[in-house]
Amino acid sequence: MTVGKAEIRATFWDCGGVLLTNGWDEHARKRVVEHFGLNFDEFERRHYNANDMWERGKIDAQEYLRETVFYTPRAFSEGEFFSKMRDITQVLYPATIEFLGALRARSSRDNSTYMLSNESRELMEYRIPRFGLDGLFDAYLVSAYIGLRKPEAAFFQCALDLSQRRPEECVFIDDREENLEGARKLGIRGIRMTSPEQVIAELRRLGVTADRAA
Ligand SMILES: [Mg+2]
Repeated sequence: MTVGKAEIRATFWDCGGVLLTNGWDEHARKRVVEHFGLNFDEFERRHYNANDMWERGKIDAQEYLRETVFYTPRAFSEGEFFSKMRDITQVLYPATIEFLGALRARSSRDNSTYMLSNESRELMEYRIPRFGLDGLFDAYLVSAYIGLRKPEAAFFQCALDLSQRRPEECVFIDDREENLEGARKLGIRGIRMTSPEQVIAELRRLGVTADRAA
C-alpha cells in the first residue's frame, strides 16, 4: 500500500452524508419543527448558537431544547420532540458501511479507521449502535466528545495525535468541501464523497482496499 513515498495507514470518515443521513441539518430541522407546528424561522434564529454549544458538548440535549423550543410552554414534551429528532436518521449508503466492515475484517490490519463527525452526544449515542457503527472504528472523534468542530485545524490535529499517524499516511472522506479544505491545510489528503462506488474506487487507487491481503 504505497502512494509516492507514503503508505496510507489510517482512514478518517465523516458520518452524516457518508454513512448515515445528516443528524440535525436544515432539512431534518424543518421536518421536525413543522411536524410540531412551530415557526421555522424563529427556531432557526435560536438554533445556531445553541447548536454550536451542543455539538461541542458544552450543553446537553435538554439545554439545547430549552434554548430553542421549550423557552415557553408547549403542548408536547421534550421527550416527544427529541424522539422525533432522533427517529429521522436513516442509513444513507449501506455500501459504505459494508466496505468499512470488510476493511476492518481484513486479515492484515495495517489500516486503522476513525470517525470524524460534527454531532451532539445524544444523537451520536443513538446513531452509532442503532445502525451498527460500533466496532467499525478504532476511535470516534465526535465534536461533542472533544469540544472541537470540523473544519478547525485542531480537530484534524487531534485525529493525527490519536491515530499516531503522519498527515501523508492518512486519507479523509467527507461530503463537504470546507471540511476537506480544513484537513488539507494539515497535509491530510481528502476524498469528497459523492457515492460509495466513487469513494471505494478512489481509495483503491491510493492502495486502500478491503480485499484479502496477499
Ligand atoms: Mg457530512
